[in-house]
Amino acid sequence: MSLTRRCSRTACGRTAVNTLTYVYADQTAVLGPLATYAEPHAYDLCDVHSERLSAPRGWEVLRLAPDPAAQGPSSDDLLALADAVREAARPVEPPPPVHVADNPARGVRRGHLRVLTTD
Ligand SMILES: [Zn+2]
Repeated sequence: MSLTRRCSRTACGRTAVNTLTYVYADQTAVLGPLATYAEPHAYDLCDVHSERLSAPRGWEVLRLAPDPAAQGPSSDDLLALADAVREAARPVEPPPPVHVADNPARGVRRGHLRVLTTD
């Protein structure tokens, strides 16, 4: 049964129904539809562990509607949202360094103290 996914919690053999994704940049744990493939920061959870989900201290938990039949966005929308969240969870390239040399007012050396001696 390659379609059956198991809960990732230790000692839990229940069938996974949700995928939990940690978005470190936003300190948010997103619980959404079962991911179509494994991600490094995603964990499959059964219904029990989805209910008991707890995020690290200071983190927010975002729960996407688990029932596609319920009113609201379609499951395709939810999957797209979950994919977007996972995309956002990927490391971002740091911005290029900003050159300030063309601004002489800010280029003046600072931190150098001149010791004045008094006669
Ligand atoms: Zn479980």
